[in-house]
Amino acid sequence: MADCIFCAIANHEIPTDVVYEDDKIMCFRDAEPQAPVHVLIVPKKHIASLDDTDASDQELLGYILLKVKEIASDLGLENGYRVVVNNGEDAFQTVKHLHFHILGKRKLTWPPG
Ligand code: AMP
Repeated sequence: MADCIFCAIANHEIPTDVVYEDDKIMCFRDAEPQAPVHVLIVPKKHIASLDDTDASDQELLGYILLKVKEIASDLGLENGYRVVVNNGEDAFQTVKHLHFHILGKRKLTWPPG
């Protein structure tokens, strides 16, 4: 999608620190990390938010969650990690392309801000 920064990253139009990539998803390091490890997983298909998914995305969503586990292991997050999907205005979603944050390598407080 034009003017979508995560589409541009997924299409290799903007250089980024890629952690994992395949035909369905890309995982790269967050530009403003909130933890010693902070990466984002994005589907290559443009989906604006979790609210914009439907039954046809079921396989992709399951695929991403299984990749979360795999990538977290590859990043050495054996002591735990947090997976965050900010959806919509109240959750402060700033990039309108579905993404899964993985944060780790520090104690993450609860409740979040
Ligand atoms: P959210 O608030 O859930 O929409 O999170 C968007 C995330 O994308 C933020 O953590 C930003 O730091 C991150 N971000 C924005 N632009 C880039 C970029 N070009 N490369 C890597 N991370 C980015």
